[in-house]
Amino acid sequence: MKSLYTKKDIGYEFSSIVLILPLALTFYFLLNLVGAPSFLLMGVPFFLTIFFIRQYGRSEKVNEYIKSVGEIGSSLSVLTDVDQVTEKFIMKSQELFNADIVFLFNNHNQWLELDKAYDKPHLLPKDTHSIRLGEGIARMVLSTNEPVIYTKSNDFKQFSISSVPDEIESVLCIPMTHNNQTGGILLLGSNRKSAFKDYHLKILELLGSYYIVALEKARYVTEALLKSERCALTSLYNYRYLEDRLHYEMERMQKKDIEDLSVIMLDIDRFKVVNDTYGHQSGNDILKELAKVLKGVLPEDGTVGRYGGEEFIYLLPGFSKSEALEFAEKLRETIRQHTFSIIPDLSSDKRKIEVNITTSIGVTSAPFDTDEAMALLRNADRALYIGAKQAGRDRVAVYVK
Ligand code: GH3
Ligand code: MG
Ligand code: MG
Repeated sequence: MKSLYTKKDIGYEFSSIVLILPLALTFYFLLNLVGAPSFLLMGVPFFLTIFFIRQYGRSEKVNEYIKSVGEIGSSLSVLTDVDQVTEKFIMKSQELFNADIVFLFNNHNQWLELDKAYDKPHLLPKDTHSIRLGEGIARMVLSTNEPVIYTKSNDFKQFSISSVPDEIESVLCIPMTHNNQTGGILLLGSNRKSAFKDYHLKILELLGSYYIVALEKARYVTEALLKSERCALTSLYNYRYLEDRLHYEMERMQKKDIEDLSVIMLDIDRFKVVNDTYGHQSGNDILKELAKVLKGVLPEDGTVGRYGGEEFIYLLPGFSKSEALEFAEKLRETIRQHTFSIIPDLSSDKRKIEVNITTSIGVTSAPFDTDEAMALLRNADRALYIGAKQAGRDRVAVYVK
């Protein structure tokens, strides 16, 4: 983004000098000639001229700022990633006010936690933040909920803030409020004295309000996306996501990024009996626990999801059919050995009991069995029902054509 100190500013400074200089000289000579009355003759017009020029210059600058803030606001509003919104907001605040540091604190029940920081010329990664939490100026702004502006370091030194570097001379700090709640504190610092003016506060508050709205929107979108991709009970990926991911993995294979792609389909044996014996809620608890077990053994780069009721799927990029078979055998054994603790919701006795389950698993691979994504699902299903369930359950079967 372009600096706000433009050619126009230089032109403005130059023309104000051209205008003021003759007035100042006339005032000087008149003062020597006629003494005190020259104040009335020239002094008043002189100071009025300076005043109006300053006012004009300031309103021009404010207009420029408002225009930039509007542009930044709309660029923030299109982002859907929370971190990206925050990073962009910090970088744009820095550019707009030519700040040397920018700290953004989150308010967690009146505790300030540094979310992101900029220390010229870098945006600091989260773990290198060296700032102590909830101290100094930011803490004070949080408790008063009033913005502050300091034009020289002596004015804020008494707060003994270890976090603000020694060379910082000017500070601008605002609370960012949304729905009457202070969500965060933004602190800008400059190595120059008097770097920030009163009207900068208002501009920054306006920018802050754009940020808060953009952040809310990004959070909402992220949450909605998460819900649309995940199963509410187990938090595993759902059928919709698994299908999309399967197509993506298939494309990777076709582009030769991976050599093989295996799919494993797993179904709990006699789960209806579990429900009938212990109750539906206990059945749910088992599904949740099983999801944890499945995630626990998920290979890097693999995906696991809930395909339907008590059926789960692994997508295993890079796994040949024999590697997938080996993985499935270990998985079956792991689940078999796992003890599920439940409190049966059907019995009046609320004591925990231990339950074991077994699973049947179907395995198929591309390009060994097929090179079509959806055929992998059909194959795995067939292997599971014909090869494993019909053959007695608690076993792994590979797809055979
Ligand atoms: P099989 O060995 O042939 O797979 O027997 P099964 O009883 O597991 O299979 P069936 O298809 O007859 O029944 C599936 C059962 O899974 C019935 C259904 O109540 C249960 N189930 C499916 N989804 C859920 C769920 O979300 N929660 C609970 N508690 N049970 C579920
Ligand atoms: Mg079943
Ligand atoms: Mg089933």
